[in-house]
Amino acid sequence: MVVNAVLVAAGKGERMGAALPKPFLPLIGVPLLVHTLRNLTQSLLVTKVVLVIAIERESLCRDLLQQYGPFRASIVLTPGGQERQDSVRLGLAQLDPTCDIVVIHDAARPFIRAEVVERSIEVASAYGGALVATPARDTLKRVNQEQMVVETVPRHDVWLAQTPQTFRASLIREAHLRAHAQGVTVTDDATLLEWTGGQVKIVPGDIRNFKITTPEDWRLAEALLQGLP
Ligand code: C5P
Repeated sequence: MVVNAVLVAAGKGERMGAALPKPFLPLIGVPLLVHTLRNLTQSLLVTKVVLVIAIERESLCRDLLQQYGPFRASIVLTPGGQERQDSVRLGLAQLDPTCDIVVIHDAARPFIRAEVVERSIEVASAYGGALVATPARDTLKRVNQEQMVVETVPRHDVWLAQTPQTFRASLIREAHLRAHAQGVTVTDDATLLEWTGGQVKIVPGDIRNFKITTPEDWRLAEALLQGLP
């Protein structure tokens, strides 16, 4: 079974308010992207990572790979697109022709563990799609535009989607191409497989695998890496 990964790092990261995009900013001295790459490639099942980056960051990225490598998988760079969905689709086009399973992961989630990656690979090969997620812990409220509560959403069957989202490569490639042709846009890859009628099964993850979005998240990630008391 050939397993590749698509690691998307072509976002602008505007919410961080920094000059460089988030994957290239140092997190306790090492670029965020390098933390994520190191952790993602802890699983030796992943033999190649298609790293999707903004075209203007290509030489910076090559320098980083040189400086912090080697990694435990081969890494190929490819330019991303306007939205995350475009970046994933472009990344999928660069998989090995023999690739059976693809692990799609956000560069902004450095705390991914090999055990979870491998569980998602097993589940994807059995069902077609695997979604790493955590159960909703807080009570969920739907609100109107004035932020008045309209209803309480039962939380017992609600899970919060993370990445990796792992798929049989042929299924997710096909789903992305169809969505692109029909102008369908969604916020994650599992939604596209659901849309084509495919099965997606949950792989329980942990809240440590959060997506670094804001400066507060950044400080939390640094605290975790330094070992919270
Ligand atoms: O913007 P958001 O935080 O949802 O991005 C999630 C991941 O998708 C990030 O790792 C980001 O770099 C990536 N992304 C991308 N191409 C885009 C937008 C986001 O690769 N056009």
